[in-house]
Amino acid sequence: MSKRKANDGSHSTALSDTKKKKCSLNFKPEWLRESVETELPTSSRKQVTKLGDIFTYRETSDEVICTICQEARASGAFTTGKRWDDWKIDYLKRHINQKIHLDSVSKLRCQKSGGLQRLLTENA
Ligand SMILES: [Zn+2]
Repeated sequence: MSKRKANDGSHSTALSDTKKKKCSLNFKPEWLRESVETELPTSSRKQVTKLGDIFTYRETSDEVICTICQEARASGAFTTGKRWDDWKIDYLKRHINQKIHLDSVSKLRCQKSGGLQRLLTENA
């Protein structure tokens, strides 16, 4: 009984190492230098921009803010600070294609094209 248990423990280590990595992946600041083609409030067509122009990484809290969603006051984790246990650049790229983000883009487009003044007075 005890012999079998010992075998399981020592021999399965190598296998489980590849299966589930214990160490979590950290956010890499160089991701923000990656170019993406995406919708921007400043243009009506897709533009090539850097992820760093859209996302801000807060090192102190390990959170990513989407500045577009934040400016548009969208609901969602990207407005207040999004965190993952395992960071992947794909998460950032995926967000800029999500509806909530594209809604923020079009909302800001409207604001920039004249509605901003009205919105400011409404909120005041
Ligand atoms: Zn966003």
